Order: sequence, then structure tokens, then C-alpha cells
Amino acid sequence: MAGDQVFDYLVVGGGIVGTATAYKLSVKHPDKSIALVEKESELGMHQTGRNSGVIHSGIYYRPGSLKAENCRIGREQLVKFAKKYDIPHQICGKIIVATTKEESLILDEIFKNGIENRTPGIECIDSDEITEREPFVKGVKAIWVPSAGIIDYVEVVKTFVRLLLERNPENKLFLGKKVIGLHREANLVYVETSKQSFTAKEVIVCGGLFSDRLARLDKLKLKMQIVGFRGDYYELKPSAKHKVNNLIYPVPDPRYPFLGVHYTPMVGGEVECGPNAVFTFKREGYQKTSFNWKDSLQALTFKGTIRLFANNWKKGVEEYRRAFSKKLFVKELKKLMPSITEDEVVATRSGVRAQAVGEKGEMIDDFKIIHTNGVTHVINAPSPAATACLAVADEIIAGLG
Ligand SMILES: Cc1cc2nc3c(=O)[nH]c(=O)nc-3n(C[C@H](O)[C@H](O)[C@H](O)COP(=O)(O)OP(=O)(O)OC[C@H]3O[C@@H](n4cnc5c(N)ncnc54)[C@H](O)[C@@H]3O)c2cc1C
Repeated sequence: MAGDQVFDYLVVGGGIVGTATAYKLSVKHPDKSIALVEKESELGMHQTGRNSGVIHSGIYYRPGSLKAENCRIGREQLVKFAKKYDIPHQICGKIIVATTKEESLILDEIFKNGIENRTPGIECIDSDEITEREPFVKGVKAIWVPSAGIIDYVEVVKTFVRLLLERNPENKLFLGKKVIGLHREANLVYVETSKQSFTAKEVIVCGGLFSDRLARLDKLKLKMQIVGFRGDYYELKPSAKHKVNNLIYPVPDPRYPFLGVHYTPMVGGEVECGPNAVFTFKREGYQKTSFNWKDSLQALTFKGTIRLFANNWKKGVEEYRRAFSKKLFVKELKKLMPSITEDEVVATRSGVRAQAVGEKGEMIDDFKIIHTNGVTHVINAPSPAATACLAVADEIIAGLG
């Protein structure tokens, strides 16, 4: 047991959503005690530490959605925070490039969305202007998005937690403690972990890839499930880095919530390309062959996943083939940059996206937070939740009892 201490708040999950929430709670309630409980031995080891490191502008999202609102507000807060605490970041801007007439039409819709979402400074540019900005990219039309940028999200997480612990000696970080039970009794919530039990007045669960299982542990009846989609990255060799100035994105396929393989300069100086989006047989599986019985069985016996596969089998097969073939991956990259070759890229790391899928096989696009008596569950926090983390934290806190 964690002594007889009753925490005012206990946050589960040391990714960017959990740590932003714990940090914001400590700003709002400096006198209250806050515990942060994470199953791994370090913070930000899953989606947060394995993402593209992009500060999204908010241009893509459905106007009025939580994603659109939180991305706009969250981006502004994140950039201010990064400046204040010296976190490596750069507002380098990005181009979204249409390479065909059909893509141009989708690009026009994205531009309209961006105007409605008040994405600052966006401009349509023609093929000459594309070449001026990115000499190695070929496209018929593009959107220049000056507010997009790059950041080190793990540093953001570490800074949130440093500030949380400095604010009040009663605030505590517990690493290596996997939550395995949640129950309520007399206005208190008991949180059982693999090593220790905790008591708190309010619990906020930000479990990323396990958000659905943690909600079911709390007896919530959900009509959705988290399905993992792995994204693999390649890196440009030093000799090819000059081919990329800033962020370069394709026009995304509007049927899917993923943005397509893109070129991403990182704050450390590398340039990455990716990620693809492949169904994974293990929620936290970062190898192409990772497998977990429970994760696979749960995903493949859920009617939503079966419908998702039935409706998108062609795309799924394409993604699978590309995951195992450098040639096919580079073929995709060539659509934006015809001169890129297999010799110029090397496979690096991967991440797994937690994608909520509904019973009809639909990919649930927007953020989803459920408040119940004493426990709040962040059920769906896909991209751009890292960009939006501080606004998502405000949203969570505003809904607490
Ligand atoms: C490949 C990829 C690229 C992306 N690119 C971007 C991008 O460029 N920009 C952007 O804004 N977003 C991006 N995203 C999305 C973004 O990374 C996620 O939306 C965000 O990190 C979600 O944060 P989280 O805290 O909810 O989840 P996570 O970071 O996954 O954190 C959840 C935490 O909960 C812990 N946990 C789970 N179960 C338990 C348990 N039982 N007990 C205790 N702890 C538990 C986990 O160990 C983990 O640390 C990307 C995601 C991926 C995967």
C-alpha cells in the first residue's frame, strides 16, 4: 500500500496526455496532492515517444470537432510552453503536396477546412513555388502551412513531470506500476497495481493503447475497441538530407485518419520518412513480426475489426506488402520526390497508433473522454493528441466533478 495517503487526484498513464493532465491539475490546484502512475520504468515509452514529433497545425480536422478545437488551442499553448522551458522545437512550416488533378480537388477541401479551422497563414502555392521551397519535390499544387513545426515530445513529458513534482512535495511519480484493478467505495477510488495499491478522490485514466481495457476494468460498457496500427519509419542517409528543407506531406486519403508517409526533419537533425499504417498483432509490438495472442484474439473476434477489414481489405493488403518491402515503401516516397532511391534510406524505428474502431467497422476519428463517478477515461486520443495535449488536459479537467 502507498501508506494511508489519499491522493486528491491520481492520473494513470505517463504518456503526453496523462502527464499534461497531471501538470495542468498541479497548476490549477497547487495545494492538492497528485499521483502519476505508469506501468513502464520510464515516461513516454509508447505512442508519445514513438511518434513523428510534428506540431500539427489543425488544418485537416472536421471544423467544430474536438480535434480541430483542441489542436488549434493546444498548439498555441504547446509552443508557448516549449519557448518558456527551452524544449527543442522549431516552427519550420510544411507543404501538403498534390501530385495529381484528383489530389488537387482534395487539397482544395483541405484548404477550406483550414480556413474554417482558423489555421494561421495558409497559402495555396503552384508548382514553381513548390520547387522554390522544396527543389526535389514535384507537385501540381500545394498548401504552405507556416504554423506547423517539430518538437521533442519526450522532453515535453519530462518537463511536465519535473514541474509537477517541484510544485508540491505531496505530488508523486510511480513508475513500473501496472494498473490491474479499479473500484469505488464511499467517494474514494481504489487503484490496484501490479506492485502497490493507491487511494484517490478522483482518478483520470490516460492509458493510450490500453484505454479500452482500462475502461472495461472499470466496468464501462464500450461499443468500440482499440486496434493498433503500426507505423514504420525510414531515415534519410546524411548524403540525402539536403533533399528536404521542411515538413513535406502528401494529400491524405480522406477515407482514413492517417496522413500518409511524409518527410519529417527531426529536432535532432535526422530526416525521417514514414509512417505507414499496418494492422498490428500486438498493441505494443514494434517489430514487423510482433505477436500477442490476447491482443490478436481480441482484435480479430471483434465485429468492428472484421467489418473494417472486410471493407478495406485491398488497402490492408497493400499496406502489408509495403511493410515488408523497402522497394514499395520507396515507391510511395517517390510520388512526392521522384529522385529518392532505395540506397538513400535506411529502416529505423516504429510506433503503434491506438485507433478506436466502432462496432460497424468505422474508425472513430474524434477525441473521446468519458467522465463517470470519480473516474475519467480518455478513450480515444489519436493524432494530433500530442500537439493538443495541453488543451486536451483542460478539456479533461473542465469535466471533473
Ligand atoms: C507513429 C505515430 C506517429 C504520430 N505522430 C504524431 C505527430 O507527429 N504529432 C502529434 O500530435 N501526434 C502524433 N501521433 C499521435 C500521438 O503520439 C498520440 O495521440 C499521443 O501520444 C497519445 O498520448 P497518450 O498519452 O494518450 O498515449 P501514450 O503515449 O501511449 O501513453 C499511454 C501510457 O499509458 C501507460 N499505460 C497503459 N496501460 C497502463 C496500465 N494498465 N497501468 C499503468 N500505465 C499504463 C502506457 O505505458 C503509456 O505510457 C502519432 C502517433 C503514432 C503512434
